[in-house]
Amino acid sequence: MSIPRVDLLIVRGVVLTVDADRRIFANGAIAIKGNRIEAVGPSAEIERLYTATRTIDADGGVVHPGFIDCHVHLSQHLGRGTIPDIWPEEREHEQWFPYWTHMNEEDAACSAMLACLEMLRNGTTAFADNGGRFQGELNAFVARRVGLRAMVGEVCWDIPPYPEVAIGDTRMCLQRLERLVAALPFTEDSRVWSGVSLAGMGYCSDALVAGAKAIARNAGVTLDLHQSFGSADTQAYRRHAGGATASAHLERLGVLDDQTQLVHMIHTDPSEIEILLRTGTNVIHCPAASTRVAMGVSHVGHFPEMVDAGVNVALGSDSGNYSDFFDIGRQAYLTATIHREARGRMPVISAEQVIEMATINGARALGIADRTGSLEPGKMADLVIHSKSRPEWHPGLDPVNSLIYSAQSVSVDTVIVDGNICLENGRATRVNETSEYRDIDRSARALYERMGYRIPHRWPVVE
Ligand SMILES: [Zn+2]
Repeated sequence: MSIPRVDLLIVRGVVLTVDADRRIFANGAIAIKGNRIEAVGPSAEIERLYTATRTIDADGGVVHPGFIDCHVHLSQHLGRGTIPDIWPEEREHEQWFPYWTHMNEEDAACSAMLACLEMLRNGTTAFADNGGRFQGELNAFVARRVGLRAMVGEVCWDIPPYPEVAIGDTRMCLQRLERLVAALPFTEDSRVWSGVSLAGMGYCSDALVAGAKAIARNAGVTLDLHQSFGSADTQAYRRHAGGATASAHLERLGVLDDQTQLVHMIHTDPSEIEILLRTGTNVIHCPAASTRVAMGVSHVGHFPEMVDAGVNVALGSDSGNYSDFFDIGRQAYLTATIHREARGRMPVISAEQVIEMATINGARALGIADRTGSLEPGKMADLVIHSKSRPEWHPGLDPVNSLIYSAQSVSVDTVIVDGNICLENGRATRVNETSEYRDIDRSARALYERMGYRIPHRWPVVE
């Protein structure tokens, strides 16, 4: 009898499967054939059952399903870190308005490249982009180049914050959404596809929200929108809804189900939890986007209660000048710690629960749990291998605690997406990072020059 051959074997890793039984193989292996996982189990068993074209020795490093970042804005990354802490929220537009109006396609491509490289380097294998100023195809092109799994959108609003950045009326917004889902359809094998994204939260009419959901349903993709981020926005939304909570109003519009993602959901009423649970609606928790600008995520939000009730809560990084980093490992650490600190008790949300939020819950939210989010036979091979040669992994007696509380993403060594090795020895394999960073920095400098925006440094910078 001949021994079955696979394309890739990963051996001698501490494999966190996040499968139905949440098994951890202390000395585990994964066999990969094409873009799918063929087998997962103890190294001795898998090595006996398969031969491989290539073998990676994880050498005791932790291997886990790729992180899933359920909410980012690729096109804001080139503008991150440019708004000083001392500005009140009302002054943000002094930076964002010229940024959006002066940005060209090359800048948007550089911004997307920076965002994708950062996610890859930090162990993210799949992401959902809520969209930006340029067409979704541009972000799709960059995600493909880097090798990530991606759901891209084009942000839509028919109640624009500034007339100069208006997309158009309700009909034009719906046409735009329809165009993108047709251009980037969600098929059985699509690694990059379009979801339906809205700005949400006061920027979209009820007609647009309901129409967008109908488009998403027809196309078999998810709808994502911002909701209940700031206190003032949420109060204004409630007035618009005749006093109803956001969840009650959105349920009345018929848009809540397990194919909808409400992003942020900080300023919520406890009564909303039952609605979210009953409808199966996904909540995307973006802790750093709130803590960076003091939106109240830990002391106003009801995230621990949502998790306890069984609402599917996943994680997102959001955007430049909010979280400023695209790193689900760090978002997971924040999620595990800030809520227990605010409530003054342990554990509130455990390390195990945040790993679920960062992997399988994210896959559920994006409607791709049948293809990714855990390491199981039949699923796409989307995974991360950590190097053990860093102090954060020692003594490493509990791999779950070590991952969330000490290592996070600092030790990400190898990232495999769809069976392809996209990061190896901590470097991207498909693009030249050095030349990309040079182009990114040059593009940002030229953009800020055209904007006429001087970074308001608080300390004197000597040139
Ligand atoms: Zn956002």
